[in-house]
Amino acid sequence: MKSMSEYDFELNKICKIINEKKYRKIMVQIPEGLKIYHEKIVSTIENGTDAVVILSGEPCYGACDINEGDADFLVHFGHSMITEPGIPYFFAECRSNIDVLKVVEKSEGYLEKNVGVLTTVQHINKIGEIKDILEKKGKNVFVGKGGKRIRYPGQVLGCDFSSALSIMDKVDCYLYVGTGNFHPLGVSIATKKKVIAADPYSNEISGLEGLKEKILRQRYAAIEKAKQGERFGIVVGGKTGQKRLGTAEKLKEMLEKNGKNAHLISLNEIKPEYLLYLNYDCFVCTACPRIAIDDYSMYEKPVLTPVEIEILLGKRRFEDYVFDQIE
Ligand code: SF4
Repeated sequence: MKSMSEYDFELNKICKIINEKKYRKIMVQIPEGLKIYHEKIVSTIENGTDAVVILSGEPCYGACDINEGDADFLVHFGHSMITEPGIPYFFAECRSNIDVLKVVEKSEGYLEKNVGVLTTVQHINKIGEIKDILEKKGKNVFVGKGGKRIRYPGQVLGCDFSSALSIMDKVDCYLYVGTGNFHPLGVSIATKKKVIAADPYSNEISGLEGLKEKILRQRYAAIEKAKQGERFGIVVGGKTGQKRLGTAEKLKEMLEKNGKNAHLISLNEIKPEYLLYLNYDCFVCTACPRIAIDDYSMYEKPVLTPVEIEILLGKRRFEDYVFDQIE
């Protein structure tokens, strides 16, 4: 298990802000991966201030999901801001202090000459160091600037690969530094380029090609299955950074013009059991794009992304598949 000291929770800074501004009710949001530290976080804030902490017990997968509750100050851990909350806030991005040198050096042999470097907000302060290590090994290194939801060059979100796409014509491959397949898989599908993932915790290097092919086969099968469907349920997410009502309305119009029935469904949290009794042949998710891609096997009926509806209706070829991103 990772230890709490591996991350910078900025608790002293948070207490200082709360004391200076005399905030009294603090909403704390912690992503699932860091929730094991909730007791220490809550007690440190309560012991260091005169405030009461309300810990958000809902799952929190990204800064797209803001819960202000009845608080006068929001502290959101583990993500960089996407949309500004409606109350005063602090985003503690939880930088990791893990050393990346060893794993980046190890990745060299897997990389082409022109490399795009990517990571999450946890390791974003290491981007310069990663670049230096690779340049010393003779690589041409590029760090792309993202769109408006991306706060740092080289940063990726699970639904926003704009920093990778912005340097696509300059690079032969990408190096993603971080844990897990979630982000590099998205980069691999979005850019269609070679992606190497370097995990500084396990010191392991992996390619994404096999997983990308498997996911694309699943997506093809889901679209084919959905083609038989007549009734489509279009899910509109309730979370601030996931709401795409305009996209949902366009999809409804598009489906209806093509002789299908389509209804809009509002959901905050999207779970298989919430869709179970809704009598549609297929669902389209305009909220977090990862629900359709990563949770594929959890749903009985096909769940498609907006781009996949274009393919289903023959408006786009499967060869031109693009990853659904929130802009
Ligand atoms: S929409 Fe999904 S992938 Fe994007 S930030 Fe939110 S939880 Fe992450």
